Amino acid sequence: MTPPPARRRRNGANGSAPAHNLPRRGTVRRAQAITTYGVGSLIAVDQESFVVSGLDGADASWNADESPRIHERRLARLLGVDYFRLPPASDDGSKDGLRVRRFPLMHSCPECTELQRHRDFNPPAGRSICGTCEVDLVPSRFVVACEAGHLGEFPYWQWVHRSTERGASTTGLCGGRLRLRSSGRTSSLRSILVSCTCGKASEVSMEGSFRRNALKDLGLKCHGTRPWLGSSAPAQECGLPLRTLQRGSSAVWQPVLKSALSIPPWSNGRADPLAEHWDALREYDSRDHVEIYLKGVFKGNCPVSLDEVMTLLDAEREEDPDGQAAPTFDHRYRALRNKEYERLRSGNDGSEHSRDEQFVCETPLGDHSVLGPLGVTGPMLVKKLREVRALKAFTRLADPESTTESKEMPLSDASLRWLPAMEVRGEGVFLRLDEDRLGTWEKAAAVAARVERMRTAHQRVLEQRAGDPSQVAPSPAVPRMVLLHTLAHVLINEWSLESGYPAAALRERLYATDDMAGVLVYTATSDSAGSLGGLVAQGEPALLDRTIRSAVRRAEWCSSDPLCMETEVSGTGGTNLAACHACVMLPETSCEHNNILLDRALLVGTPEDPDLGFFANIQAR
Ligand SMILES: [Zn+2]
Ligand SMILES: [Zn+2]
Ligand SMILES: [Zn+2]
Ligand SMILES: [Zn+2]
Ligand SMILES: [Zn+2]
Repeated sequence: MTPPPARRRRNGANGSAPAHNLPRRGTVRRAQAITTYGVGSLIAVDQESFVVSGLDGADASWNADESPRIHERRLARLLGVDYFRLPPASDDGSKDGLRVRRFPLMHSCPECTELQRHRDFNPPAGRSICGTCEVDLVPSRFVVACEAGHLGEFPYWQWVHRSTERGASTTGLCGGRLRLRSSGRTSSLRSILVSCTCGKASEVSMEGSFRRNALKDLGLKCHGTRPWLGSSAPAQECGLPLRTLQRGSSAVWQPVLKSALSIPPWSNGRADPLAEHWDALREYDSRDHVEIYLKGVFKGNCPVSLDEVMTLLDAEREEDPDGQAAPTFDHRYRALRNKEYERLRSGNDGSEHSRDEQFVCETPLGDHSVLGPLGVTGPMLVKKLREVRALKAFTRLADPESTTESKEMPLSDASLRWLPAMEVRGEGVFLRLDEDRLGTWEKAAAVAARVERMRTAHQRVLEQRAGDPSQVAPSPAVPRMVLLHTLAHVLINEWSLESGYPAAALRERLYATDDMAGVLVYTATSDSAGSLGGLVAQGEPALLDRTIRSAVRRAEWCSSDPLCMETEVSGTGGTNLAACHACVMLPETSCEHNNILLDRALLVGTPEDPDLGFFANIQAR
């Protein structure tokens, strides 16, 4: 491991074990630092395993050049922070890196078969080998976690002594030493054997350790440990049941990501210098008071004019969700989306754009009534857009989609004024469905019944994954959502097949609630050039008309038909109907909804019921 630079060679907060920078050989791209290797996730580098450190102290230690602050006021406000920072990349050119701590600590030596904490092997500094045998140590394949997001070592001692010392509090006091060996060549749980030299308990395999109640039966429950915060972070009260997991399992860590498009009046960067003052400014209702506050803070050098500040404050208040004293997070997130929808719908062609304007959305020149017969309306060319995607928290065991905020684990011990985030720039095409047509279509009994099947299946999956049924978020599956979602997928497919965009470079953003029926398809790259170019041109009505017709026709048939179209349940537990990898599914980076809640039949109908399809009338029969 490359030694960390001198300025970092110090103990972590409160004298805990120092966090290491990720070894150079473990390259982590910046985007992965929030999507895959965010705080609390496990990362394997060669033979070693680490947990990505919490953010306490990171604001000071992250390099300001490599991890600059970025601003997106609406998202910051939603998430209760002042600003965001790009996470450090961890590659050869990087001065900084992802900060990690060794986890799990339990290791075994394939030579002497000792199973103990890493430091008890007396490895030479900076290496992970058995001090006696000089072979690479193997990090424990198993960890334990609870649904509140805690993480811990697999309780090997209790596992071995389960017949003799059930529920014992005298962990490790049998006088023996643990051993781990593997019988035979398979990596099955049955062939992993753990024993203790005390001789009081016989050798056991790991078989059965993944049973739901395996650890409960040993009298164990969660101690609330958070190893990503270092050894000095206090354990939290918990007591929830523990589950055994493989280190590499996706159930160990799931990011909770929230994103926003930058829209006027926040999207020209003018408001950025005020990022840390909005909460204070909101307290004043008079212009005079705002002026006095700004004079006090900026000593007469406020980079933003008083008029602009007042305009921004008005815009901010306009987004306050009304009618609810304490709106839920979901309610506020919906309000944020609603505002985007309004902006995308109205565009900003009339206004003068400064060079820094990050949102440029214009009405196409062509006559958009050509789209009328399709039931499509209001296409907009989004010539410039910026999306900020922040890592809010993470979950373990529970799927972030299915849980309410209570199961989310924050990224730091102390509450911080910032979160890590990525920004992407690009361009896109926005379109809406005709509300009247849509209203009639979604009321049709066959449509409602079909989507209800999917909704019920999805709700069941959410309940299973959430553990606590009272904490389950409602499934978003309604006819317009599934229709818009499937339409977005076939459009992305069409543009990728016909215009050569890699499908993975296009993304969808759905606006599908009672008062919204739109979809944005956009290019999203994190480099500043930001665009493959030309997607905007695809939004001209005549071209869009051809594209939608062709996409819908392509959706009539899948190489897995008739199976795909006839399917009653597909996807994870019936959460898709007529949709599979051979037709409408997309690379995961393109899809907002994990490739579920898709159904081609809602576009084109089924052979038995062609009128089910929203676009049934345009098909060549
Ligand atoms: Zn050894
Ligand atoms: Zn023993
Ligand atoms: Zn816990
Ligand atoms: Zn299919
Ligand atoms: Zn999708």
